[in-house]
Amino acid sequence: MFLAISLVILAFCSMEGVAWLAHKYLMHGWLWHLHADHHKKDGSSFFEKNDYFFLIFALPGIALLALGSFVGSLYYLLFIGIGITAYGFTYFLVHDIFIHQRFKWLRNSNNVYLRALRRAHKMHHKHLGKEDGECFGMLLFPARYLKEEMKRN
Ligand SMILES: [Zn+2]
Ligand SMILES: [Zn+2]
Repeated sequence: MFLAISLVILAFCSMEGVAWLAHKYLMHGWLWHLHADHHKKDGSSFFEKNDYFFLIFALPGIALLALGSFVGSLYYLLFIGIGITAYGFTYFLVHDIFIHQRFKWLRNSNNVYLRALRRAHKMHHKHLGKEDGECFGMLLFPARYLKEEMKRN
């Protein structure tokens, strides 16, 4: 049980680093053509090309869940898969629903951390192009946003 919980937490936390790296070096790199419409929205369609990343990033999680479930000796991969998938789901809730309001719920929050997180991501969106970005992570961001939100309270 200890191993299971540790692996889930470790995988979840590692994903923040993976997401940061992927966002900075893949999405703002050679996969920019898929990510660009998330920065320059034309608003005509509910879906963005950027949504392909849900499929791309879901696949490793699904593969680990399947291997961990069906291959007895690889059972621990199941917990890594759960951590990765939980991160993906959290990312969707925080990024697509809370920040970008693609569904009109979780409109607002008094929570200082969530407000700081949203401001940090809005700073990421101030940059419309591929270069010179900031705040590529999601759940972790520079501490100054937290300090500023705390002052507002
Ligand atoms: Zn971006
Ligand atoms: Zn965004």
